[in-house]
Amino acid sequence: QQFHGVGVTAGRVVGPVLQMPAPVREPAAGPVPGASAEAEAERIRAASKAVQAGLRARAAAAAGDARGVLEATALMAADPMLVKGAVKLLDPGTPGGARSAERAVWESGAAVAEKLRALGGYMAERAADVLDVRARIVAELSGAPAPGIPDSPAPFVLAAHDLAPADTATLDPGRVLALVTSGGGPQSHTAILARALGLPAVVAAPGVQDIPDGTEVYVDGAAGRIATDPGDTERAAAAAWAARAGALAAFDGTGRLADGHRIPLLANVATGAEAAAAAAAGAEGVGLLRTEFAFLDRPTEPTHDEQVKAYGAVFEHFPHKKVVIRTLDAGADKPLPFLTDTDEPNPALGVRGYRTDTATPGVLARQLAAIAEAAAAHHAEVWVMAPMVSTPEEAARFAALAHDAGLPTAGVMVEVPSAALTAAHVLAAADFASLGTNDLTQYTMAADRLLAPLAALNDPWQPAVLHLVKATTDGAAHAAARTGTPKPVGVCGESAADPALAVVLAGLGATTLSMTPRALPAVAHVLATVTLPQAQELAAAALAAPTAADARTTVRDRLPILDQLGL
Ligand code: PEP
Ligand code: MG
Repeated sequence: QQFHGVGVTAGRVVGPVLQMPAPVREPAAGPVPGASAEAEAERIRAASKAVQAGLRARAAAAAGDARGVLEATALMAADPMLVKGAVKLLDPGTPGGARSAERAVWESGAAVAEKLRALGGYMAERAADVLDVRARIVAELSGAPAPGIPDSPAPFVLAAHDLAPADTATLDPGRVLALVTSGGGPQSHTAILARALGLPAVVAAPGVQDIPDGTEVYVDGAAGRIATDPGDTERAAAAAWAARAGALAAFDGTGRLADGHRIPLLANVATGAEAAAAAAAGAEGVGLLRTEFAFLDRPTEPTHDEQVKAYGAVFEHFPHKKVVIRTLDAGADKPLPFLTDTDEPNPALGVRGYRTDTATPGVLARQLAAIAEAAAAHHAEVWVMAPMVSTPEEAARFAALAHDAGLPTAGVMVEVPSAALTAAHVLAAADFASLGTNDLTQYTMAADRLLAPLAALNDPWQPAVLHLVKATTDGAAHAAARTGTPKPVGVCGESAADPALAVVLAGLGATTLSMTPRALPAVAHVLATVTLPQAQELAAAALAAPTAADARTTVRDRLPILDQLGL
């Protein structure tokens, strides 16, 4: 059986499938016929103990941060507020009448989570943990598999419809060989995280959610193909990939084309730990610091000191190197309760990114002040940019705010077609631009980047998107000539991590490319095989192609190194 989807991360592996369990559903109201309250109470106590013992055993086998998290979760599974609260609810005299053990645990967990949320701050952040424990106890009670990434000692290929951000964050690349999903798109956050982990991944592959557990499959992450019953050819391809992975493991820290033309290769990061890993991987700086990721689970705006600390934790790893920090990009799939309205009918077209400054003024100014203070305390060369800028007026206003805050280099992301088409004016107002090709693709093609059925539209190889990249670099050249100041245009969308597209972007005039650190060696390797005139020729060929598939094939056919490396 063959399954075809969109390849997200290159890699060829063979392994057994384990399905992601379905999320635990809200149990029906009402009691279990014939069950006594005492018997139900006993079931709750036993389930809580079993969940606790299971988590303790996993903690004992885990190391580092994971161990601490599992121990804390195990304690929570026996929390009297949760367990005794559930037992109390079994009394037929409580409002709502008698309940099943499952239903009582569900309601008790909701009440505890609500209390924690009301306390705010650190306690509010534990609400999600209580709901996780609640789901585990309900699964135990109903004989369903425990929620979350399956816990298997042997490496496996994880199959799912799609993963929630919290699940993806607990993926252990030491045990998960590859990720295959029937949902998601190549620019969804699941895909971004898979790339960051260097995990071979295929998304939008219909049918993979029905492959039975234990079935052996072959996954080709570059080709976007999954096959059951792998034969000798597939096993040999996987072995060859494993042997070659070492050759592509390192980046020497200098991005350049074959003729020496410099294309600094930077990293996309969200935290200090990721910045440390990026520096260790040879990144020449940070091209995108996504600040919202550090605050996604926060119900309230982080304090000035918290922000200074979070940004400084990234700056410290890049002394005398460029760090491009992006102000909060909240909204759509990254809601922040203190900035965004989750009831918007169409959040991708809503008050998100830079636009939140009009609905919730003050957060941006306070963030710029925190960035300036963190920048002053470190030696990194800090550039700041705003997400989702649509007009030259917005660019000018943001640049003025940033300059007033003491940040001399202020730019904008180009991820809305209007900004690309008016780039000459946008860049007359701003010091630099960074192309966010993930959003630029979704807005150019009018295709939600999270929707699997639209994955083919959501492809940065779409010639329309490439024309907008060119409009941006042309506009920047115009603004540079008019103002007498260079106007660099980098790329920080996922397209920069595709070695073939990286060549096209260089040919279109991108001055830097920023990507997950895992992609640095492959991108550097391929860039070093072409001269600037060759990259420009490939870019022209891609622009002239009628379709995304033609653009990709035309360029790939002229870069045989890609197939040699399995990229
Ligand atoms: C983009 O849109 O390309 C981008 C880099 O921003 P994000 O993926 O965080 O929306
Ligand atoms: Mg974006």
